[in-house]
Amino acid sequence: MSFLGSLSRSMSRAPRPPRRSTTPTSATFPSNSTESLPSPSPTSAQPATPKPLYLCSPFVEAALVKGNFKTIVMQPKYTDIMEWVAVNIFEFYQNLNQFYGVLAECCTQQSCPAMSAGPQYVPSRIPRGYFLTQNPRLNYTWINQDRKSVQLPAPTYIDYVMTWVQNLLDDENAFPTKSGRDFPSNFPSTVKHVYRQLLRVFAHLYHAHYPQILHLRSEPHFNSLFAHFLAFGKEYELLDVKDIKGQSGAVVGVGALWERWKEMGILEQ
Ligand SMILES: [Zn+2]
Repeated sequence: MSFLGSLSRSMSRAPRPPRRSTTPTSATFPSNSTESLPSPSPTSAQPATPKPLYLCSPFVEAALVKGNFKTIVMQPKYTDIMEWVAVNIFEFYQNLNQFYGVLAECCTQQSCPAMSAGPQYVPSRIPRGYFLTQNPRLNYTWINQDRKSVQLPAPTYIDYVMTWVQNLLDDENAFPTKSGRDFPSNFPSTVKHVYRQLLRVFAHLYHAHYPQILHLRSEPHFNSLFAHFLAFGKEYELLDVKDIKGQSGAVVGVGALWERWKEMGILEQ
């Protein structure tokens, strides 16, 4: 059995984290408790949402690659930039798809009825305390064929993303692999779009499935993959950070992880 196969098998025996217990595990993964949060009320003083585990030591430092990612994202000499971007996107997609393949059995319509990347309600500070405000930006919607924005369960959303990216990668007109074939003029906008959707998949897995990633002891691998993805996206201006910003404009969810890694010197400022 392959490494990923055995991980998958061990995950099927993983107990699901209990709801609303006082242990750090469930307290820091709001996906399991969002629906039981009280309605937003300006008078109810609430403590700040606990920090997600992926921002806590030692998990935030866990990595396969030590040091700054700048060197591994630099375009090698004599390589066409489009070729370099295409190869890297292919690698990010393949790696993320493998992770998702292992985590997919935990990402169901029941566990993840929305494609979320953060708590639906976030605490906002007001002079007399906290109140909870809705944070709809971290619930990603899918644009369907009629150009309508629709809410989908996370597994459906991710399936759409992965199938769409796979089809693009297989399309010789979109991602040419044969020598002498030019990249299409819309290649930069296509890869930006791909990057945006892959970022959402990363964001959902960090937000909703970090307990499973820890259970598999895969956090060094997953962190390194994501840090590489962020470093590459920053270098080639492929990242769209509005998906990881809260209502106040501050970064939230995996955006906070990005900020933390910048402070730690893992990623460029
Ligand atoms: Zn999920």
